Amino acid sequence: MDHFVVSARKYRPVTFDSVVGQSHITTTLKNAIRTNHLAQAFLFCGPRGVGKTTCARILAKTINCQNLGDDVEACGECESCVSFQNNASFNIHELDAASNNSVEDIRNLIDQVRYPPQTGKYKIYIIDEVHMLSQAAFNAFLKTLEEPPAYAIFILATTEKHKILPTILSRCQIFDFNRIQSKDIAHHLADIAQKEGINAEHEALELIGQKADGGLRDALSMFDLNVTFSTNNHLTYAAVLENLHILDYDYYFKITDALTAGSIARSLILFDEILRKGFDGHLFVIGLLEHFRNLLVCKDPATVTLLQVSESAERKYLEQSLMAELSFLLSALSITGQCDINYKSAKNQRLHVEICLMKLANLPQVLQLHSLAAVDETAKKKVEPQQPLNSPAAPSQATTVPLPAVPAHGQSNGSAYANAPAQPAAVPQQAAPQQAAHPQPAPQHAATSRLKSTVSLTQSLTPPAQQPAKQGNAEPQADYAAVPNGAKKEELTLANLQRFWYEFSQKRLQAGNSTTEQITLNREIQLNGATIEIALDNDHQQDAVMNMRYELLGFLKARLDSPKLDINPRVAPQEVNRLPYTPAEKFNFLAEKNPYLLELKQALGLDVDF
Ligand SMILES: [Zn+2]
Repeated sequence: MDHFVVSARKYRPVTFDSVVGQSHITTTLKNAIRTNHLAQAFLFCGPRGVGKTTCARILAKTINCQNLGDDVEACGECESCVSFQNNASFNIHELDAASNNSVEDIRNLIDQVRYPPQTGKYKIYIIDEVHMLSQAAFNAFLKTLEEPPAYAIFILATTEKHKILPTILSRCQIFDFNRIQSKDIAHHLADIAQKEGINAEHEALELIGQKADGGLRDALSMFDLNVTFSTNNHLTYAAVLENLHILDYDYYFKITDALTAGSIARSLILFDEILRKGFDGHLFVIGLLEHFRNLLVCKDPATVTLLQVSESAERKYLEQSLMAELSFLLSALSITGQCDINYKSAKNQRLHVEICLMKLANLPQVLQLHSLAAVDETAKKKVEPQQPLNSPAAPSQATTVPLPAVPAHGQSNGSAYANAPAQPAAVPQQAAPQQAAHPQPAPQHAATSRLKSTVSLTQSLTPPAQQPAKQGNAEPQADYAAVPNGAKKEELTLANLQRFWYEFSQKRLQAGNSTTEQITLNREIQLNGATIEIALDNDHQQDAVMNMRYELLGFLKARLDSPKLDINPRVAPQEVNRLPYTPAEKFNFLAEKNPYLLELKQALGLDVDF
């Protein structure tokens, strides 16, 4: 049986050009070698498994090669290259700082630096995980790093650049390694699969690339694992999904379809299916977040490049992003993000995710309502100038309000207002055809009724039967504040006030006002300085007074010589004389009047029949 060499080692790149996804670094290094401007200390930073050590080794091999080609790649045939390839070169020293981080280890290394190379031009010292070096070891190393012998080159590698001391950073040429794109990984894996005679589905390799999250070494390990599991050297998407225990992204598409259609039931059933397949709820939430994020980046052609998925998946994302509205995605990200944050602390984690799904499924309706409400607002603004009754505008202006506006009030329960929000709302409907069918009728109705409620309270209380009368007599409303010709303002006394108050209430009555309004106008009023005091039974009545306040004061001020006249409606419920109702109450009422009743009851052992 052949000795099995893992792909990560077997296919470790041996030339700069074969390094995957780090061309910005290999090009720079090659140029430096070509122009002989090689630094003596490098710092390679980047996530694990992206080729830092590989690049360091290629650099060491290349600069020692005796027949360096024009393309600045090692020949792979000379003595030096061969010894490198056999791991037998004395010109390369690797120190794993994770396990050798003491001052002694660094001193040993510095001792070796003193001896020039026996063959070749350079000695290369690779210190991996350099951030693990102790403080003392760093200090011992500084001097050598600053003034190394001409033949020595240091390559420091780390996954955590921020842990490196500034004194070290300033002495090194820094190279930042990229996370390798999943497309590049899949491409590399496809090459290897071909060399190994493995028939691999491209989707399967893409999946491995995504799961590896930018690390080529991890991707190669996964590839080996899946090849081991596979039958007949055939790597299928389904098998990789199962081996790597990855949730098929199709689930996210299906669940998003259910959510945008507002189907709570379908989304919950899909989630149950996912759980029954043994997937963790939290991973699902995180995956869903990423899915929404992917849909969001598809919304703008400029950000589509941020989508790191296979071509077939990209097509699906683009399709679904057309169906999902931006506002839905933003809200969905927010809701799902909260679910993710609180997942660990939730007692019932399954329910926690389910609640999140229910909220998400409800989103399309909520958003539709919101957009209608916005239309509602603008419609209301358009309506407001037509409401001289409630407007604080000067009385003289009120007289100039064009009459056709008034019938509009009369129609407020009819079609005119109902149509107002419906027409602008048609625009978002067209933009979101998938939502048109579902939550349409209800919100429209809600918006209409809401709009009606914005029409002043007093009017909405008017019985429908009075509407035509109101329309007919609408004209006098406009000149409420008009002063009778030639009339002089009278002194502010309670008597005069009561007179004009009564006049006002009669005009309102003719105009067909509401019962509540009429009740408040029939209340007793007091005069306190320039303030009219009126005591009311409840908030409802107070609202009615506040609604006609400006109009009322305008009317009174036009007749009374009191520019500072004001009204103070306050709720002061009167003591209600409650009549006895229940048998017990009746008995107590009677007993209060005639105490002998109590005695009689006790003497005869009677009881009140409840
Ligand atoms: Zn060579």
